[in-house]
Amino acid sequence: MNTLVGHSPQRTQLSQLAREERLPSALIFSGVHGIGKFAAAQELARQLLCATPNAPQGGCGSCRTCSLYDSNNHPDLHRLTFSGERSATVDDIRIALDNLSLKPFMGGRKVAVLNDADEISIVGANILLKSLEEPRPETFFILIVANPSRLPSTILSRCQRIFFDRLSTEELQTIADQLGLPKIDASAAALADGSAAGLDSLQARAEMHDDVKSVLDRAFNGDTTTIGRAAQEWGAEKSLLRERLAFLRTTIRQKLLESARDRDSAAVWGNALQNALDAEYLILDRHVNPTLCLLKILQGCSRELSATYQSIPNSAPSLGELLLNER
Ligand SMILES: [Zn+2]
Repeated sequence: MNTLVGHSPQRTQLSQLAREERLPSALIFSGVHGIGKFAAAQELARQLLCATPNAPQGGCGSCRTCSLYDSNNHPDLHRLTFSGERSATVDDIRIALDNLSLKPFMGGRKVAVLNDADEISIVGANILLKSLEEPRPETFFILIVANPSRLPSTILSRCQRIFFDRLSTEELQTIADQLGLPKIDASAAALADGSAAGLDSLQARAEMHDDVKSVLDRAFNGDTTTIGRAAQEWGAEKSLLRERLAFLRTTIRQKLLESARDRDSAAVWGNALQNALDAEYLILDRHVNPTLCLLKILQGCSRELSATYQSIPNSAPSLGELLLNER
């Protein structure tokens, strides 16, 4: 089992409150997706249900309730998820809440972990609200949410909110190590934006990002060999096309912002941005040959080509016009 990474202050505080019997009965764990809120809720639930007196953070791991917990068979633990294909129905919520209203089977506490609770339906939220309004002793609700504002204010006001931060690059690296993934570089860390969700695909995306940036720099300096090669390769990689075009657009936009003080460069990137936007539509919606569109975008990033445009003010042809003239 992988050890939980990050959020030490929150986890320590929650564990302490549980030991001191001061833990609020309804908690909201809020923070972006993929940072370990669910894992933190599991850790707390295991401690709350553990039969060892003054159970340590995460539970003792050796008592009967801990093993029931680990085998997903603890009768006093209810886990519901409100996203994806197996999202809990209103009936699932009713059944779980009915069970939670009974005495604990194991004589201890009862815990409900509601994952992606901000996706709960209005009907579901109203049913849940009733249980939150009438808290029962030794019964705990942990709602995991990325976007608390999507929860009804009536539910928000009955829960104590715990904030979970984005993960640091070091923490992401620790998770990558646990997953046996390669070293996270600066681009991958920036792309991850503090979340471990999809970490395994980040490295490939980071490489794609670096590739796009370097091709754009070469295109700007009029390197026609690179322009031709990139258009050919990128156009052929159909499965990555959508993502590559999005990267291309955001990177060109970044170049435009960076060149704000240099009017000539800004004109090149401004034109290129329009071309990139056109290309996304032409390729993805109109099924125009991607290699041809990519070639036009990259040629349009060239300083030289842009100088020709500028000799006739405001006459930079749109990508659609360029492609149309060529047919
Ligand atoms: Zn235990």
